[in-house]
Order: sequence, then structure tokens, then C-alpha cells
Amino acid sequence: MSVRIVLLGAPGSGKGTQAALLKEMYGIAHISTGDILRQEVAEGTELGKKAETYMSVGTLVPDDLILEMMRLRLLQPDTRRGWLLDGFPRTVAQAERLASLTNGIGQRADAGVILNVIPEVVVRRLSGRRVCEACQTITNVVEMKAGACPVCGGKLVLRPDDEPSVVRKRIAVFDAQTRPVFEFFRRNYDVIEIDASRSIDEVTEALRLALDRYDHS
Ligand code: AMP
Repeated sequence: MSVRIVLLGAPGSGKGTQAALLKEMYGIAHISTGDILRQEVAEGTELGKKAETYMSVGTLVPDDLILEMMRLRLLQPDTRRGWLLDGFPRTVAQAERLASLTNGIGQRADAGVILNVIPEVVVRRLSGRRVCEACQTITNVVEMKAGACPVCGGKLVLRPDDEPSVVRKRIAVFDAQTRPVFEFFRRNYDVIEIDASRSIDEVTEALRLALDRYDHS
């Protein structure tokens, strides 16, 4: 199946988790700006060095850097089969540029999906989130007993920006800069609202039911 979807939600709403599952289910590109930036930081590129100063304190990387990064990413051939944006747009200025970016490859987003989640769930999910040092799989230690990555057995570590003080900053930045993007989407795109405080499987099923109607294949 081929769809073009923008996943929107607070930190901890499950965007990354659901995007990875939908990528598998539909065979479409999962474009996570956070993942791309973390890769740039790990490789020590110019973009990575600039981005790290913002990411480490939980603020947003400037729009011009993100927009150029997205322009290049959307030009890659895997986007022809459909895509899921995860972590972009994060500001109204980015949202306003989305249409011209996707027009550049002769496409338009089918819909925005808003993952609504209550604050208590966000805090619980983010404080229990660990990432595997070896394969980057995300796990939640609140829901498991063993201390190793379930995929590769690697060591689980706290993502630096999941430290409690940085999480508080990311939530404040989300409320000030990203929440207005929801309204922008409601005015300009089809929007699907999902209750994302439920279990992973329940949310995936709700997404699957809602997205089937946009199939281009
Ligand atoms: P994420 O993995 O989506 O939570 O992103 C991690 C960090 O990368 C964020 O806290 C921001 O510093 C940065 N970032 C990711 N996506 C964007 C974006 N679209 N605009 C600005 N900064 C971003």
C-alpha cells in the first residue's frame, strides 16, 4: 500500500514506534528528522555539529537547516512508494513550506495524523524509554523485565535528550512551537485524530483502519 502521511504528536505520543510499524506494514519510507539528525551528530558532519547544540538542550534546530535536510531527503528514490513524516513539521514555518517541498517531487501529503496523548502517559513513556546502543531499537523498560535489547541483545541506554530536565524543555517547546502546527493541518489538510494513550497494538490498528482509504497502489 502506498500512502503519504504526516505523523504529529507530542514527545512520547508514539510517533516513532508507530512509524516503524507502519513502515513495515506498508513498505513505505519512514522519514524521521530526529533519526537523521542523530545520525549526522554521530558522523560528526557540519550539520550534526550545528544540530547538537540545540538537541542537547531540547530546543529546535533552526528551520533553514531542517528544510534543506528535508528537501534532500525527499529527493531520494524510496519516497516514490509513499512516506511517513515523523518529527516534521515542528513549527508553523516548516508546515507552510511542506507543500512546496512535496510539490517539488510531484506529490502532496494525503493526511496529517494527530496522535493525542494525555500528559501522564507522556511522562511515563519518556522516563521508561531506552535506546539500544548497538542497533538503536527503542524499548520501554516500564513494560519489560530484562535489561537488554530485545532485538540484538545490546546494551540499553537513556537517550541524552530523555534526561528529565531536557524532557521538560522538549514538552515546553512542543506546546509553544509545535502544537500550533496541529491547527495549521486542520485548516489545510485532511486530519485523522487518534487516541494514542492506548496500547501500541490498539493505536496501530486504529491507524491501519484510518489510513486504508488513502491507498494509491
Ligand atoms: P525527535 O527524535 O523527533 O524527538 O527529535 C529530537 C530532536 O531533534 C528535537 O528535540 C530537536 O532538537 C531536533 N529536531 C527533530 N526534528 C526537528 C524539526 N523538524 N525541527 C527542528 N528540530 C528538530
